[in-house]
Order: sequence, then structure tokens, then C-alpha cells
Amino acid sequence: MNQIQTLAIIKPDAIRNKTAGKILSIIEDSGLTIEAVKMMRLTKELAGAFYAVHRGKPFYEELLDFMSSGPCFVLTLSGENAITRWRELMGATNPATAAEGTIRKLYGTNIQFNACHGSDAPETARQEVSFFFSGTDFL
Ligand code: ATP
Ligand code: MG
Repeated sequence: MNQIQTLAIIKPDAIRNKTAGKILSIIEDSGLTIEAVKMMRLTKELAGAFYAVHRGKPFYEELLDFMSSGPCFVLTLSGENAITRWRELMGATNPATAAEGTIRKLYGTNIQFNACHGSDAPETARQEVSFFFSGTDFL
């Protein structure tokens, strides 16, 4: 058993395309548990801090514009191997190369507008969960 939490974001493109509910269904059908959720619109500054690891990359500015372009759902998910399980459900970063049936293949548009985010390792999961949530958000 490896019960841990990960951070998921249903990105602004999915809210705009009205596929957020379908993505939530995939999460629930997967057996992962939604522990906390908030709908929020990131400021460019907040998006920049969240994706600070990508500062300096060619897509960084566009990524911040995209992530602050409208509301998103920010969630914590828990379950056995939640980090890798959620990354598997999302699929590869680029919807064009993501496996059939993955969220990005089903609902992503391109490498930028790719519907969802997931933490990539235990340390980043801890950081990202506490970036958005505090103890009182877990009911
Ligand atoms: P995320 O961190 O959002 O879960 P990821 O870990 O699959 O995605 P990263 O390399 O961390 O991929 O990239 C972060 C995000 O930046 C991507 O999800 C995508 O929205 C955007 N992005 C990544 N590469 C590119 C690119 N070459 N051109 C445009 N946008 C990109
Ligand atoms: Mg990433």
C-alpha cells in the first residue's frame, strides 16, 4: 500500500470546452479519491510561481498566459500510487502522442492546451498540495 496525495489541475481549456465534468468522472471511476477541490482563476504571478521550474523555457510566458486565462479546478487526489496513477490517466504532455483513452488524448487540443496537470514526484506533490491547500481545506 502506498497511500499518498497528489495535486491535479483541470486546466482552463477543459473548463472552457466543458469537459471538466468528464474528467472528474474519469477520476472517480479510477478509484482515486478527491480530497479537496477549489475552482479558482490563477493570476499570472501565481501561475509563474507554480510553474517556476519552467522559467526561462520558450513556452513559459505562453504557459502563464494560458493558465491565467480563465478558471480552473485545483484538486488533491489520494489513493494507492496516486501520483503515478494520475499521470497515467492524464497521458503524455502532448495529446498527439498520448495513449488512447487518456485524458489528454480525449480532451487535450495540443501540447499547450492539454486539459490537466499532475504532480510528477512525491516531493513536488507535497509542495504543490501545500501551494494551494491548507489543513482546514480538508473536510
Ligand atoms: P504538467 O506539469 O502541466 O502536468 P507535464 O508535466 O506533462 O505537464 P511539463 O513539461 O511539466 O509537462 O510542462 C508543463 C506544461 O507546459 C504542459 O502541461 C503544457 O501545458 C506546457 N508545455 C509544455 N511543453 C510545451 C511546449 N513545447 N509548448 C507549449 N507548451 C508546453
Ligand atoms: Mg510538469
